[in-house]
Formats: sequence, C-alpha cells, structure tokens
Amino acid sequence: MVWVLVLNAGSSSIKYSLFKMPEEDCFLRGNLERIGERFSFIKHMLSGSGPFQKRLKIAHHREGINFIFSLLLDKEKGVLKNLKEISGVGHRVVHGGEVFRQPCIINKKRLLKIKEYSILAPLHNPPQVSVIEACLEYLKGIPQVAVFDTAFHSTLPKYAFLYGLPYELYEKFGIRKYGFHGISHQYVAEEAGRRLKRPLQDLKIITCHLGNGCSITAVKGGKSIDTSMGFTPLEGVMMGTRPGDFDPSIILFLLKKGYSIEKIDHLLNKKSGLLGLSGVSNDMRDIMRQLRRNNLRAQIACDVFVYRIQKYIGAYVGILGGLDALVFTAGIGENQKELRERICKGLNFLLKATGARVLVIHTDEEQSIARQAYALLKNEDKSK
Ligand code: AMP
Repeated sequence: MVWVLVLNAGSSSIKYSLFKMPEEDCFLRGNLERIGERFSFIKHMLSGSGPFQKRLKIAHHREGINFIFSLLLDKEKGVLKNLKEISGVGHRVVHGGEVFRQPCIINKKRLLKIKEYSILAPLHNPPQVSVIEACLEYLKGIPQVAVFDTAFHSTLPKYAFLYGLPYELYEKFGIRKYGFHGISHQYVAEEAGRRLKRPLQDLKIITCHLGNGCSITAVKGGKSIDTSMGFTPLEGVMMGTRPGDFDPSIILFLLKKGYSIEKIDHLLNKKSGLLGLSGVSNDMRDIMRQLRRNNLRAQIACDVFVYRIQKYIGAYVGILGGLDALVFTAGIGENQKELRERICKGLNFLLKATGARVLVIHTDEEQSIARQAYALLKNEDKSK
C-alpha cells in the first residue's frame, strides 16, 4: 500500500488529505482552521463515514500537525497504524521564485531557499515552512516533496514576465511576474485535454480560477504562456478582497495623503475587490443575494468583476491565436452559473469565431499535489 499525505498550509489553516497511490483514492481529508485564534476548528472526513467536527485550541502550525497525525492514527477516524506507513508527503508551497520550476524533494538547502522566498509570499511561505519543518522532524526518513504554485508558470517567456521597469530591479530583487494558482491551472488544463479527447500539445486553453483569489491563465500546448497574477497575487482580475490591476500611482497618492504602508497593505489585500466595491461582502453568494435585491453597489461590484475577466479572456485569445477551450474552476467558477453565462455572453463573438468549448471543471489541488509527489517519488526509486 502506497500512502501519500498532502499538506496545504495557509496563514491560519492546514488542509490535509491522505491518498492511496497510484489509484489516487482519497481515504481521508480535513481542514484545521483558525490556528492561533481563541478557538480553532477541525473538520475531518474519513471516506465512507460522516464528518468529525470539533472546536479545540491549537496555538501554532506545529501543534496542528501533531493533532492531524493523531487523527491519522486514530482507531476510528484514521487509517494508519504507524506514521512510517506514509511513503511521502506532498507540500503545497506557494512561492518557488525562479529556482523551483518543478516539484522537488526537500533538503536543508532547498528549505533555506523556500524560506528566502517568504519575502515574496509573506502570508503563505512561512506557515508552509513551519509545516515542512515539523514533518522533517516527526517523519524522519520519509521524503518530503514541495509542489509549487508558481512552477507551472515558469514557462512564461521573458517578454511576458518582465515589467516595463528598470532591468536592474529584476536582477537585484527578482521583480517580475511569477503567477500563482499554478497547481490548479495545470490540473484543469490537463483535465480539459482529456474531456476534449485531444492531446494537450495541440490545444489552446484559457483557464479561469475564480475563487476568493482569482487568476486567469493562457495555456498553449500544455504550457502556461501568460497569467494574470504577477509579482504577488494582487495583480490581475478583481478578487474577493484584492483589486487586481490598478494604476500604481494610487499608492503614491495615498502615501502623500498620509496613509501608512501598513494601512495601504491592508487596504489592498483585505479591503478591496468585491468587498471594497460592494460594501457587502467578499463572498460572491452574498453579493448575488444583494444584487437580486437591487443593491446598486453589489451590482457595480459584479459588473466590474465580469468586465475585467472578459478583458483578460479577450487578450489571451489574442496571444494564443485562437481558443479550443475556456475553462472555469474554483468556488465561483464552478458554482456561479449566472456569472459564467454573463462572462460568456459578452464574449459570444470570440467563442463563436474560435469554436471554443466552455467547460466547468472541479479543481482538486490536493489530488494534483499527490499525483506530482508520487511521480517524483517513483522516479527517485527508479534512479536508486
Ligand atoms: P474558493 O476560494 O475556491 O473556496 O471560492 C470562494 C468563492 O466561491 C466565494 O466567493 C463563494 O461565494 C464562491 N462559492 C463557493 N461555493 C459556492 C456555491 N455553492 N455557490 C455559489 N458560490 C460559491
């Protein structure tokens, strides 16, 4: 039996799932949330039985990992007798900078590099590093694999990833477009190829990951050639609490008006986007509810959201030189039919001209991480 454990740490959460490979059967999955807050919360699901939910107190990610391991070993809620049964762990790492272009087995040197990239993803890389460190300690001898959200976009050509800024800023600080959500974009692009029953090499696909964070990617021959998120996940289309593209002079203007850097950071990451424009919520379900009650701010938030997505899709059809499939995924992309229809209606002319299929594909980042980690472990075994 080959077990691959997948861990996906956020700033205050750890999602986990245990896969039997190579079948990719998920035996259990769960989410430990609100780590470090007064009360944390865990939802744990063992396949074939009802969910186990509990309010508890977990101070930090390390303690969280310990608790998750205890559940994996639990007689009723788990499936393992010993943690040594795990063949490998796949960790989602958000930022792999320019160095990590594919998944890798983590060693001391690579871990240091991932730590260095914390400056580029301050909310994500640090908790992911904590989880990796805990696993290296508790699961000695079991390979830990990092799967990067930026890796799928490492194929972007230089003219697509460079900003029109002095070249020295790229050389000195690595200021360039990196792109994110790569695990998801790759997963749904590959699935689109399967559904169209055509080799990925021949396809031009636009993948729209529309969740709380949103990004759009142009995929040509299975490779990402451009993507909407940039140096950080702020760039691109509008999102739940982030503005997407806007004139950077606005930041200078606000600084001159006396806004602090911290305040602007908070404003751009937590207070903008659907929430900022609507004044209602960052959650599209709430916005749609208000929209039906003719709330004008909810309407405008929705209009901006749709319009900006259409602009990106239009531009990406242009650089792809055609389109075979337009794919929607993640919370909004999968569940908001009305929004999908609005987006497509405005693009009717392009969709008709290209003959593109519109697909809704459920993204499963955990499964993709398990697949990538397993492929790497298998190769390692062969080369031994
Ligand atoms: P994600 O980040 O992928 O979890 O997506 C979160 C976004 O998806 C939020 O804006 C939700 O409103 C939206 N969403 C999630 N589930 C549903 C659903 N069943 N129906 C409509 N919208 C949903």
